[in-house]
Amino acid sequence: MKQQQNMLVKNPLAVMTGLRGSRARAGQVDIRISGGLISEMGRNLAAQPGERVIDASNCVVYPGLINTHHHLAQNLLKAVPAGINQDLQGWLASVPYPRLERFTPALVRIAARLGMAELLLSGATTCADHHYLYHANGTTEMGDQLFDVADEFGMRFVLCRGGALESAHAHPGFSKTALQPESLDQMIGDIERLKARYHQDTPVAMRRVVVAPTTPTFSLPPTLLRELASAARGMGLRLHTHLSETQNYVNFCREKYNCLPVEFVAEHEWLGPDVWFAHMVHLQPGEIRMLAQTGTGISHCPVSNSRLGSGIAPVPQMAEAGVPISIGVDGVASNESGSMMGELHTAWLIHRAAQGAQATVAEDVIHWGSAGGAEVLGLGAVGTLAVGQAADLVIYGLDHPRFFGFHDIALAPVVAGEPVAVRYSIINGCVVVDKGEIPGLDLAKMRSEAHDGVQQLLIELDNAS
Ligand SMILES: [Zn+2]
Repeated sequence: MKQQQNMLVKNPLAVMTGLRGSRARAGQVDIRISGGLISEMGRNLAAQPGERVIDASNCVVYPGLINTHHHLAQNLLKAVPAGINQDLQGWLASVPYPRLERFTPALVRIAARLGMAELLLSGATTCADHHYLYHANGTTEMGDQLFDVADEFGMRFVLCRGGALESAHAHPGFSKTALQPESLDQMIGDIERLKARYHQDTPVAMRRVVVAPTTPTFSLPPTLLRELASAARGMGLRLHTHLSETQNYVNFCREKYNCLPVEFVAEHEWLGPDVWFAHMVHLQPGEIRMLAQTGTGISHCPVSNSRLGSGIAPVPQMAEAGVPISIGVDGVASNESGSMMGELHTAWLIHRAAQGAQATVAEDVIHWGSAGGAEVLGLGAVGTLAVGQAADLVIYGLDHPRFFGFHDIALAPVVAGEPVAVRYSIINGCVVVDKGEIPGLDLAKMRSEAHDGVQQLLIELDNAS
């Protein structure tokens, strides 16, 4: 467990707040942190006795980024040759699912440590992980491993408890395994256990549990989809899943249910301010209106969508309509990087490439990556830098030629993109990256564990390729 400290962040070149419009920039203000919260922001603040002073000169400060869709277990599945040129369906069937049974709690732990280290060093302070490696005869210990690793790194963590139920035979990945899906009782039983052990309701929660079947159409029958929504709301938990990632997904829904995916989930009580969906690449205008009217959010994952050739989500149109926008890196088996700043940089660029230079504004992209994430996760006291908010902030160093010559230095991390240099990262008033390093992280050990983990996940498909 990390120790909270009272701190004064002094002399930054610029502070971005995560808010929109004229409130996006706080200027060159110092930030005082006490009891895990931001207690004061202003020019030339004086250090008080007992405060640690953090020198932020030649740095810019952003709110901690909030990654709203990840699959941490995939950190041992980067650039698997059998899936490198596949679309989503081929990739699901050749990369994560053939190895589902191989994933032990120990491997999930190794993978999660890689992912959380990369997230911290790319500006993220909160991670929502969609973990779906469950089957009828498997262990439920994975969720506990993930919470434990989050504790080690001091990261704010939301476990989106995934998995497939009865109709998993329709899932393009699960159906290729010989595994039996869990029963509804097994899934709900584990969610109740996780909730009792970890879940916090407060707007500054460090730990949350979310109900998150892997996909709403392929992974379970519609009746169970509705039952899960009702169970989640009964427990006061939010809902998350994948939606409309590819055109195939939309075609399946049209053919099987005679409606569009957003209409299908609406039919089964899966819209509302307590729901967010990953991807939503393929949407009709009417679906965007339904999302906006119900306050249902998106986790936009532009790198994974590019890598799998899925398309580009209509995020500028969704933002214009009022849909809550957040950003996720998705699993690194379909990204090859779990960098949040890399994801923001791509989000800034990709809509411009498709729709013109007016399509995105850098300040809005920072908002999506911070306050937008807090909104979809229901963490109201996180994601913006203001007095009274949680002290989750990242201080980026700019001591590199690529950051010299800027007219608007405040935007440097998001418009220049990776590699960013996280000098300090503070979560809940605890320093989790200190002078550019994660304290106590043994890189050589991490590399060797990752190498061993990759060996354990090699399968026949790999030898054939
Ligand atoms: Zn995903």
